Amino acid sequence: MTPLHRSRQQQVLVLGGGLMGLTVAHVMARHGWSVGLLRRGRRDAAGFAAAGMAAPHAEGLSGPLLALAQRSLQMIPPWVGTIEEDSGLPCGWRPCGTVVPFTSQAQRQAFPTAAMGHPLERAALEAEAPGISPAFPCGLLFPQDGQLDSRRQLMAALEQACRRRGVRFEEGVTVERLCWEEGGDGHPHLVGIALRASDGEKQRRPCERAVLCCGAWSQQLIPSVPVTPVKGQMFSVQAPRQALQRVLFGPGAYLVPRRDGLVVVGATSEQVGFTPGLTPIGQDQLERGLRQLLPAATRWPPMERWYGFRPCTRDQQPVLGPGPLVGLVMATGHHRNGVLLAAVTAELTRAVLDAGPAGLRKTSLATTLHPFRWNRFSPAP
Ligand SMILES: Cc1cc2nc3c(=O)[nH]c(=O)nc-3n(C[C@H](O)[C@H](O)[C@H](O)COP(=O)(O)OP(=O)(O)OC[C@H]3O[C@@H](n4cnc5c(N)ncnc54)[C@H](O)[C@@H]3O)c2cc1C
Repeated sequence: MTPLHRSRQQQVLVLGGGLMGLTVAHVMARHGWSVGLLRRGRRDAAGFAAAGMAAPHAEGLSGPLLALAQRSLQMIPPWVGTIEEDSGLPCGWRPCGTVVPFTSQAQRQAFPTAAMGHPLERAALEAEAPGISPAFPCGLLFPQDGQLDSRRQLMAALEQACRRRGVRFEEGVTVERLCWEEGGDGHPHLVGIALRASDGEKQRRPCERAVLCCGAWSQQLIPSVPVTPVKGQMFSVQAPRQALQRVLFGPGAYLVPRRDGLVVVGATSEQVGFTPGLTPIGQDQLERGLRQLLPAATRWPPMERWYGFRPCTRDQQPVLGPGPLVGLVMATGHHRNGVLLAAVTAELTRAVLDAGPAGLRKTSLATTLHPFRWNRFSPAP
């Protein structure tokens, strides 16, 4: 391999600088790639809205998504270690376990991941979630689940880790179009990015390798990949520090207790496009869910309210691996599990970029990625 070839191969542009963009940029920079990151805005990223649960079992996932999520869960402690080492900042990883309460034994038995949890009868449920409503006679404890403080810690730590690893941030940049040409192999190849810079100037940037991390906005760049926004509203309350030790994953709301006693309450799930803002109906729904789950929590002082847009695909699974253009890699569509799946997404994306287009065929990596391929949705319904 000539030095020119090697240096070209090691350059990548990350499109979007939310949770996935930062995660991918960090891992690529750590592994010696030269990384540029283009992002339109900072605070619109769902990474700043997430509750941060890493809870494949409480979420009741199944099939290839459960396998992927369990793999990611295992990877979180060492992954967090690399971010904390590079940034000098904490990510708020808390392997605290989750408790899922049920209104009947039958409901508990039917839960998809029931066999992976510890059954709790009423007394044990009360011990794990003090003050839980008497409407719940039983529950499941998943000690293997955990949480990251995405909003207050993880995102800032990732940004700092990226900067210290030499990632070049371009802020206020909107990627408008991906440019391609037919290659000698008859396939369309990525050759550039058309963008609008922060001063409004239109530019075209040559580029042979990019990772699409535009979250809920991804379909604007690749119309054939159906990623749509699902809005989530949240709020937080300040609890006594020891009031709740585990994530409490109820039917109408979930409660995520941080180490300092802040409890994040989520979340609505709204199909309203990119309509911004909080709504009385959404906030009422959360308050009702909180009251029905842990009545005492309604007396804890409210702290903050916010919302974000989850990137959701038709089958609610992410889009990973090689994209529709040679040189374009997909890391989007993580819906309500982006924090949970960030570690495995980073590793798979790096493996795809390191392997290059020819190195992927018939490998175990290709098998892992198959359920999450970009073209699984066609033909459209
Ligand atoms: C309310 C809520 C609660 C959640 N709770 C959890 C949870 O408990 N656990 C969990 O695992 N996940 C959770 N999630 C999901 C998680 O936050 C997302 O899956 C994850 O943040 C998606 O990351 P992303 O990088 O794909 O998108 P984002 O973090 O949204 O980042 C996308 C970025 O791309 C940029 N961008 C978009 N288009 C362009 C363009 N054309 N040019 C340049 N930049 C562009 C945007 O400005 C944005 O910064 C939650 C999400 C929400 C909204």
